[in-house]
Amino acid sequence: MLQDQEAHAAEMERTFIAIKPDGVQRGLISEIVSRFERKGYKLVAIKLIVPSKEFAQKHYHDLKDRPFFNGLCDFLSSGPVLAMVWEGEGVIKYGRKLIGATDPQKSEPGTIRGDLAVVVGRNIIHGSDGLETAKDEIALWFEPKELVSYTSNVEKWVYGVN
Ligand code: GDP
Ligand code: MG
Repeated sequence: MLQDQEAHAAEMERTFIAIKPDGVQRGLISEIVSRFERKGYKLVAIKLIVPSKEFAQKHYHDLKDRPFFNGLCDFLSSGPVLAMVWEGEGVIKYGRKLIGATDPQKSEPGTIRGDLAVVVGRNIIHGSDGLETAKDEIALWFEPKELVSYTSNVEKWVYGVN
C-alpha cells in the first residue's frame, strides 16, 4: 500500500553525522557513506572541514565536565572531519543504530563502530542523539544555504510514496 504523502513528509527528519579524523585518515569515508546511502537515507549536506579546538568544544559542550573532554576536543580538531546531514524517516534514532554503541568493544558486529573501530577514543563517527541535538548540531556545522532540498528518484521506492 502506498504511504500518504503528508504522513511521509511529517515523519521526515534530519540528523548530523560526522566522520571523525580517524575515520577520514583510515580511508573509511566511502564505506561509511555507503551504509547510509544503501539504507535509503538522503544526503542533504556534506563538507570536509578541520574544526578549530574552540569549535570542537562547542560541538561537545555537553561533555565539558568529563575527564576526556580536553583530549576529545584536541582529537576532533586534529585533522579533517567529514560533516554531513542525512535525511529520512526515523534517521536520527536509526542512524545511531547503524553507528553502534559509543564503546566499540560493546558495539554489535554489523554496526559501523562494531565492524570498523576498536577503542572508545577512536570510534570514527559521530551521530546526533535526538531531535533537539540534531537541530543544534546541524545549525552549528552548516549554514542554511548549504542544506540541499531535492527529490531523490529512489524515494518512491524506499518509502512507497506516490
Ligand atoms: P556518542 O554519542 O556515542 O559519540 O558518545 P558520547 O556523546 O557519550 O561521547 C562523545 C564522544 O566522546 C564519543 O564518541 C567518544 O569518542 C568520546 N568518549 C565517550 N566516552 C569516552 C570515554 O570514556 N573515554 C574516552 N577517551 N572517550 C570517550
Ligand atoms: Mg553523543
